[in-house]
Amino acid sequence: METIRPRIFISRCLGFEHCRWNGEMITDDFVERLKSSVDVIHACPEMAIGLGCPRDPVRVVMIDGIPELYQPASGKMWGASMRSWASDYIPTLPADIDGFILKSRSPSCGWKDVKVYHSVKPESGAGIGAGLFGSAVVTAFGTRPIEDEGRLKNFVIRERFLGAIFTLARFRIVEQAGDPAALVEFHTRHKYFLMLYSEKEMRALGRIVANHEHLALPEVLHAYRAGLERALAAMPRYTALINVVQHAFGGFSDSLSREEKRYFQNLIEQYRDERIPASVLLSVLYGWAIRFGERYLLDQVLFSPYPLDLVQITDSGKGRSG
Ligand code: SF4
Repeated sequence: METIRPRIFISRCLGFEHCRWNGEMITDDFVERLKSSVDVIHACPEMAIGLGCPRDPVRVVMIDGIPELYQPASGKMWGASMRSWASDYIPTLPADIDGFILKSRSPSCGWKDVKVYHSVKPESGAGIGAGLFGSAVVTAFGTRPIEDEGRLKNFVIRERFLGAIFTLARFRIVEQAGDPAALVEFHTRHKYFLMLYSEKEMRALGRIVANHEHLALPEVLHAYRAGLERALAAMPRYTALINVVQHAFGGFSDSLSREEKRYFQNLIEQYRDERIPASVLLSVLYGWAIRFGERYLLDQVLFSPYPLDLVQITDSGKGRSG
């Protein structure tokens, strides 16, 4: 498979600079592993608005129903500065950026698990929301893969994120090629992979590629990107993988012995019961695709949607639901 490098934004304190409020940096195993396979754009919003380092910490507080960035030690509000910086900075990011890894729980970078205080008095309680920069990222790029280093410790979430950023990066190459044949090839190779997310969206994308309305290529690519991002935003369903492998298996099951067929059905049941990962089923299937020369199957992105050296089956133990 060709070398594809997703372009992603990562919060700067995740392994790029000692810019946290206390002068520290976070070394995250997954981000470290990912660095050599992606092109990274990084920034520290709090440094960018002049908070300095080390600095007194800030927190998100609600003031008249609007999230503010409050610094208890100084009594200063930094929300206007952060909003202004984010609205200048975000348009400088590539419009076709493939994804984001934001620092979890940060009042600036966090995107969904940030403590949001009901007022400047901590005793008034807090709920959960987004940091000011994280919220601006979601508003501008909500259909792209956005994650944080905390959630990415879960294997299922990590696998989905990697699949999505590498797929969007491959599609960027198709957009740059400006060749309808490249789009047909992309869709053909991603058919089974997209079925994991949504068969309905996969078929809708197929109709966009067929282009019965004879639209100009830029319009077709625009519609395809919108549909692709929509499809990838869903959580892949493990039951969909069973359908996909059974469908693919049907192509050569007549050539297999009764024992081999029984072995594969057992593997499917073990996968259904969460006793083995998807990779076991896919490896067996891939081996048979080689044996029977199933070119269509061998070319499917489903077997390696992202570089294998990024796979690490350790996680926070949340299971398949993510
Ligand atoms: S979480 Fe964001 S604002 Fe905070 S130190 Fe990291 S990059 Fe800077």
